[in-house]
Amino acid sequence: MIENSMFEEEPDVVDLAKEPCLHPLDPDEVEYEPRSSRLLVRGLGENEMDDDEEDYESSAKLLGMSFMNRSSGLRNNMSVYRQNPNESCLVPSTRTMVVCTVILVIAVSLIMAIYLLPKCIFTKEGCYKKNYTMELIYPLATNGKLFPWSKIRLPPDVVPLHYDLVLQPNLTTLKFAGSVNIVVNVIQVTWKIVLHSSGLNIMKATITSAGGQQTKPAEFLEYPLHDQIAIMAPEALLVGQNYTVNIEYSSNLSDTYYGFYKISYKDENSEQRKRMCKCSQRKKVICQWFAATQFEPLAARSAFPCFDEPAFKATFLIKIKRDEKLSTLSNMPKKATTPVTNGIVQDEFFVSLKMSTYLVAFVVADLKNISRETNGSLVSIYAIPQHLNQVGYALNTAVKLLEFYQKYFLINYPLEKLDLVAIPDFQSGAMENWGLITFRETALLFDSNTSSARDKKLITAVIAHELAHQWFGNLVTMEWWNDLWLNEGFATFMEYVAMEEIFPELHSDEDFLNLIFKAMMKDSLNSSHPVSSAVQSSEQIEEMFDALSYIKGASLLLMLKHYLTKDVFQAGIEVYLHNHNYGSAQSDDLWDSMNEVTNGTLDVKKLMKTWIQHKGFPLVTIVRKRNVISLQQEKFLYHMEPENWTSDTSYLWHIPLTYITSNCNFTHCTSAYLLDQKSAVIELPEEVEWIKFNVDMNGYYIVHYAEDWKTLIDLLKKNHTALSPKDRANLINNIFSLAGLGKESLEKAFELIDYVNKESSTSPLTQALFQLSHIYSLLEKKGEQQLAVRVMHRIEHLLGDKIDQQHWTDDGTLSERELRSMLLAFACTHDMRNCRTTANEMFKKWMKSNGTMSLPSDVMKAIFIAGAKSSDGWEFLLKMYSSSVSEAEKSKMIEALSTTEDVRKLIWLMQNSLEGEVIRAQELSHIVSTVSQSLTGHLLAWDFVKENWEKLTRKFHLGSYTIQNIITLSTSQFATKTHLLEVKSFFEAKSEESSQLRCVKEAIDTIQLNIQWMERNLAKLQELL
Ligand SMILES: [Zn+2]
Repeated sequence: MIENSMFEEEPDVVDLAKEPCLHPLDPDEVEYEPRSSRLLVRGLGENEMDDDEEDYESSAKLLGMSFMNRSSGLRNNMSVYRQNPNESCLVPSTRTMVVCTVILVIAVSLIMAIYLLPKCIFTKEGCYKKNYTMELIYPLATNGKLFPWSKIRLPPDVVPLHYDLVLQPNLTTLKFAGSVNIVVNVIQVTWKIVLHSSGLNIMKATITSAGGQQTKPAEFLEYPLHDQIAIMAPEALLVGQNYTVNIEYSSNLSDTYYGFYKISYKDENSEQRKRMCKCSQRKKVICQWFAATQFEPLAARSAFPCFDEPAFKATFLIKIKRDEKLSTLSNMPKKATTPVTNGIVQDEFFVSLKMSTYLVAFVVADLKNISRETNGSLVSIYAIPQHLNQVGYALNTAVKLLEFYQKYFLINYPLEKLDLVAIPDFQSGAMENWGLITFRETALLFDSNTSSARDKKLITAVIAHELAHQWFGNLVTMEWWNDLWLNEGFATFMEYVAMEEIFPELHSDEDFLNLIFKAMMKDSLNSSHPVSSAVQSSEQIEEMFDALSYIKGASLLLMLKHYLTKDVFQAGIEVYLHNHNYGSAQSDDLWDSMNEVTNGTLDVKKLMKTWIQHKGFPLVTIVRKRNVISLQQEKFLYHMEPENWTSDTSYLWHIPLTYITSNCNFTHCTSAYLLDQKSAVIELPEEVEWIKFNVDMNGYYIVHYAEDWKTLIDLLKKNHTALSPKDRANLINNIFSLAGLGKESLEKAFELIDYVNKESSTSPLTQALFQLSHIYSLLEKKGEQQLAVRVMHRIEHLLGDKIDQQHWTDDGTLSERELRSMLLAFACTHDMRNCRTTANEMFKKWMKSNGTMSLPSDVMKAIFIAGAKSSDGWEFLLKMYSSSVSEAEKSKMIEALSTTEDVRKLIWLMQNSLEGEVIRAQELSHIVSTVSQSLTGHLLAWDFVKENWEKLTRKFHLGSYTIQNIITLSTSQFATKTHLLEVKSFFEAKSEESSQLRCVKEAIDTIQLNIQWMERNLAKLQELL
């Protein structure tokens, strides 16, 4: 999967209808789907249970010791008692007899307790036989009986081998009926089969033994809190035997973006297929229904009962009954179509390869496609009929990338077909379902009139990412969600490898660099997490889909590739894929594969564990004296709550440092040094004028040059091209990060970017603009308007000439075009130079032509932003948004609409996007993000989140990337203690699941950091500007 805004400065896509009712998402109608969350009885997840068991065992040792002492004491006493011939026991009295009997009974009882129950574990709460501990905390099923399993993870006693799935979606009633036969193999003798099911109405369950002659009805129990059902076998299921479980069920097509969900869209072209359907409570319009799936990570269970964990791989035979006028797609090619009843036919697909449930997919819709064969596989791009003219670029790109990956991995794409489908309403950017990749329309459709250079790059990147998943994720899958980075980090890394090889003109490495800067910002907060982190609950699993799994994961692989060399790294990947194909893997399996290739010359596992198992990254401080370089590493952490890292040796990274010097600054002169201690010394062969570490930012660390910053500042002033554009961007990022940390002065950071008025490369310009506009935004929101204006003057001083030089056309290289888009959109947003004057003239001409005049696609956003400042312009833009058939154009329009300073319009936009009728709900996080950037909108955006929290978390799952974005973006501009308290109090008053979200902690950390930054730098800024 790829998240839509992960690679975008600002999100994209839009869809709207002339009539405000294309998407029937009245929030009141949205059905809540039960989600797994916490254990009912004692609040125990699997890990928590393990912890408790460990506690029990240590308690048992202590208590056992105590019992043993008491027993031996008793024996000693009795022995003394017997040995004393003078005591009255020689001729026992009745009282003595009674006492002795009582003592004897107690002693025998203790002995029996100790010896006859040898497996008993003594605990704080008494004696439990360990194997029976779980029975005591079994939760209750919906029918009041005990549900025979209490963990979130499924039991390992049976595994699925094959699914036969028959589905009949009804696009009139918006319900579906299903029947699934699951062949399971028994690993341990058991009476129960526990599997996942969410929101399904189960009518019947049966179990058939291997021979297939003894089908017996089976009782089923449901435990919705964990999305689990248990099929109770009428007799013991025997080890090694196969059984077939049949389950008949029905459900509603989902109103959310998960599971088997429905979408409505206005059908522009297909007159014959138009029909009246109620897609709004307000009025009836002509529309088409579209049904699609999104299962990753936990939603396959809401389309069919299944073992919904990635390691439970099986084969799938899928049959779908449909209206004969529509078409269906699934992972595999279609095998046969047979009539069922009048107007209904059944499509049967070939049996799939062995795969995880989250990769199963199907689509039922009116679709058109174009196709091309390559290397035995038919690649097709599908879209709704009115978008068929926008799929050509995607087909060419997909074919080229598929051919590249087959050569790179030395493993052929294993299916006979690969479909890429544009879905009219889609929460994330795309999803890699094996053989049937689903996309948001802006991530697949390229319109030569309205798609910009940036749009082309985005489409290429998303296709490259999803195709890489066909190997990383689909062929070899992470065993559990804790290692999601193995899927997402790898696909992100391969996306840039492939783009650099096949589309070098796109300069995708510049984008990757900017993403790494953002990931490091997130990773420098206390709320960060190790790339590989233990997860249990659905919220924790959803939250793994973040910049750390994707970007940090990818940048660690980039660092390793440079250290091992390109060929060794590639050979390691080949070994990994070959060793684990059609299976599952953990992080260690990857390092073991790499070690097979390095053959003892380097322990990759030892090196990479220092990066994967700890959050954060190192700060390397360099002190140069003549030709001697002293190096020291420490954890880079914004100290909201300082951690005592110096006493913790685990915060010692093995850092593959790289550097270039004034004596030779070409790539082939790059030197390497592995810093695996806290400090070290490098002796250069000769004295140098300057030294630059972390060449091209190929390593995941920040460098502090101490006294040498002055040398580098002078170098940039005199001859900035002595360093590569990526190195220049890296220096800008590092010095501003250090100023935030208090390790370097803001004055020096400002001094370093003084050279930028001579800069012409996109990466350093983007980074300088990001740093200054971030300061501007914080000052503006804090009410320091005058100072904010002075920051804007500084930006104008640095970039004004560059802005003036831009043409209002689509000319130039892709990199130049992209830079133009960025600079002019910024200038028009902040009314800088003559941007709005030129843009307004073009907007008026466009209005006059009723939107028929063609605008240059790269500057379209800047023109729309300027136009949307007037009320008439805004209204016209909204009207055009309703009628446009280009998703690329709509995306620019929705962003411009969100920059208005009219409060009522901003509220209207957010509210309508949440309702999903006029503006699709897929746009919401993009709109909230844009609104929260402006002075007018930032408080509105937060109020909107507060007021609609329940609706938001019903529509987008708690922990999902959309919710992460909405929380962090709507609070990222706060820099006061009042706002900090406000945000904290709001989430504390919500459910435990909400307040414990990592993104909530990140939001709080960010506000604290903003406050700290202001306290540290406000006075200095007054002096500086
Ligand atoms: Zn992905």
